[in-house]
Amino acid sequence: MGRAYNFSAGPAALPEPVIQQAREELPDWRGAGASVLELSHRGPEFMDVAAQAEADLRSLLAIPADHAVLFLTGGATTQQALIALNFADQGQPADYVVTGHWGRIAVEQVEPVMPVNVAADNAADGCVDIPPASQWRLSENAAYLHYTDNETIHGVEFPELPPAGGAPLIGDFSSNIGSRPLDFSRLGMVYAGAQKNLGPSGISLAVIRPDLLERSGQPRAPMFDYRAHARAGSMLNTPPTFNWYLAGLVFKWMLAEGGVAEFERRSARKAALLYSAIDGSGGFYVNRVAPAVRSRMNVPFFLHDKALEPRFLEQAAAAGLIGLKGHRALGGIRASIYNAMPEAGVRALVEFMGAFRDRYG
Ligand code: PMP
Repeated sequence: MGRAYNFSAGPAALPEPVIQQAREELPDWRGAGASVLELSHRGPEFMDVAAQAEADLRSLLAIPADHAVLFLTGGATTQQALIALNFADQGQPADYVVTGHWGRIAVEQVEPVMPVNVAADNAADGCVDIPPASQWRLSENAAYLHYTDNETIHGVEFPELPPAGGAPLIGDFSSNIGSRPLDFSRLGMVYAGAQKNLGPSGISLAVIRPDLLERSGQPRAPMFDYRAHARAGSMLNTPPTFNWYLAGLVFKWMLAEGGVAEFERRSARKAALLYSAIDGSGGFYVNRVAPAVRSRMNVPFFLHDKALEPRFLEQAAAAGLIGLKGHRALGGIRASIYNAMPEAGVRALVEFMGAFRDRYG
């Protein structure tokens, strides 16, 4: 089999031209006499890679010049742990709106160091809807309001930025960053692991508004201090150079394809194709998420007969459609259709789903 259509939730499919380019320039990176993996992060070649990646990301996401852009290790989960230490005074609470698995993990990451106020939680309804903002129980003196813009496992996505109360809004955009424009005037911090929409695993992104960066927060090691990372240009220690380089290639590819507005259009088309195949299947395939908050990136669904799922996955793989197994927390099937998934891949999946239903329905 050549390259399949890969619906994995993350690490996820990378754009084919990026894989090709990385392969071509791997042994001797632009005449350096060594691969990009082997160059010092402080040498001129890599400094250039890093600066170019940051410039491209700033232009791609229209990040205001005064915001810090950090390339960090530790994944999105580490950022979830660090936000309390960096942005809340000791004893100060923060508000969390939980709309699925990752929102709950974000709470767990800070519970040991701060009083957490879960302002809303959709667990009672099975994580299939977003409680209206009018029902959120916000605290008076919250350090920030944290939410998950797209829940990767449950397939629940905010259709637009939630209203922030007095506290700065911190959004986990791990699984939908770069799929629509972001309004930084309404966000205190945006973070994301790269391994879905921006590049490989092993590197994550944090964009932080200057007033948040200036907060004193709680006693912490320099390694846990965003300000220290910002001052050091994300090179407080050895950064994941290859991952940074690869993410940079993805940023260039996204710009060349037409940028975030184009990916927003593509995402809308791909998601509509897949959800209409599910909804039009006469109950053979089921997605229970409220239509207004269905994710454009991660589409979880179930077969009416659970016993058919292994056969579905096996036959899909044989047809060149891989990575469709649902997360272990939820089971079922999940198709992740990030920026690197072409519409042709979604069409191939929809066609396969139709044929499978004809065979077993
Ligand atoms: N938040 C969201 C929305 C995610 O999808 C994930 C990973 N699937 C995480 C956080 C955790 O990311 P990481 O594995 O990079 O720590």
